[in-house]
Amino acid sequence: MRVASSAVGKMVRYLEPVLANVTDLALERRATQPDACDFRFGNPQEMPLPQIQQAITKWAAPKNKDWFAYKFNDPRAVKVAVDSLRRRTGIQFEPDDIAITTGAFGALASTMRAILDPGDEVIYLSPPWFFYVPMILSNGAKAVRVDFAPPRFELPVESIERALSERTRAIIVNTPHNPSGRIFTPAELERLAAVLKRAPNPVYMISDESYCRILFDGREHISPVRFYDRSFLIYTYGKTLLAPGQRVGYIAMPPAMPNREELRGALMVSQTALGWTFPNAVMQYAMGDLEQAIIDIPAMQRRRDRIVDALTAMGYEVVKPEGTFYVMVRSPMPDDVAFMNRLAEQRVFVLPGSMFEIPGWFRISLTANDDMTERSLAGFAKAIEEAKVSKHK
Ligand code: PMP
Repeated sequence: MRVASSAVGKMVRYLEPVLANVTDLALERRATQPDACDFRFGNPQEMPLPQIQQAITKWAAPKNKDWFAYKFNDPRAVKVAVDSLRRRTGIQFEPDDIAITTGAFGALASTMRAILDPGDEVIYLSPPWFFYVPMILSNGAKAVRVDFAPPRFELPVESIERALSERTRAIIVNTPHNPSGRIFTPAELERLAAVLKRAPNPVYMISDESYCRILFDGREHISPVRFYDRSFLIYTYGKTLLAPGQRVGYIAMPPAMPNREELRGALMVSQTALGWTFPNAVMQYAMGDLEQAIIDIPAMQRRRDRIVDALTAMGYEVVKPEGTFYVMVRSPMPDDVAFMNRLAEQRVFVLPGSMFEIPGWFRISLTANDDMTERSLAGFAKAIEEAKVSKHK
């Protein structure tokens, strides 16, 4: 008897390593003990920014009968997005080309629903964020994996060119990139755009810019949309505010997007058909105030430096991130899950790379707090020493 659909079956199989990890209740219990150092997910380990509560309570009070009526794209929220995008990218985005969504999840799912047909191919870079492939599969499309190599994680433009086919409908580009922490340079993005323009059929770029405000060392975020018109820019406040449970973000199409009038309708219909991927009314009203708030990036950069320097001194190979919440580290043992378990014995919890297509590595989230960071160092040191000893046995 058929239970779930075959597309969902494929999604579940792809996500098996992730599901095994997140549904492991014993692991969850250990990782959330008071003495544990939890570096697994981009979740907050400190109290939230006070501006979030202030904005939500301010806008929760109804000012008219329609306050909690169905909300598509609230004009105030759209204006916040347009002003912010124009300032940050220099592109003259127009209000009608903005779709307000339940974070980047809602934005990505709605964009893919709007443009994909079964059998279409979507290129993504590996290692990826976990949910790109399931979202591609949910549309009956094919996920085409293009690897890019640690520790430099340079945009693999030649491999992308080789992967482009007559069926390629879209490519997902994520900068700053989860998990590598890379910010693609203008030169890399220019080369990518040139290759996409030579594709056999028109290709959409889905530009996931979720981490565009999580930048280190005074770096600037350069939107890939500046180099390629046929693009959807994806943004979420989940990272900037470190409040991913409060769902708000958007999709933006640049004015040079071909056929954008038709795409506006396609996005609108996709958002409703997917089960209303517009944020709650209050989150849309609050966007103007939320736009002003951002987590303490200098503190996160200090934490990055502390972890990168300490782990490097211990003998780990570490990729120093230019942005995002994440640090990639080579597992001292080829089996990253076994090494994750060694770290867990030290009460240090990380994500094994085999959960996101990069076995032999693991990922640390910088959303851990400073106290956890300091307490974790002895555990990291002990685990690598033990790994060295077992290698020489
Ligand atoms: N894209 C990337 C690259 C991410 O890392 C995440 C969250 N981890 C998302 C999209 C989804 O963001 P949100 O939960 O804010 O919708």
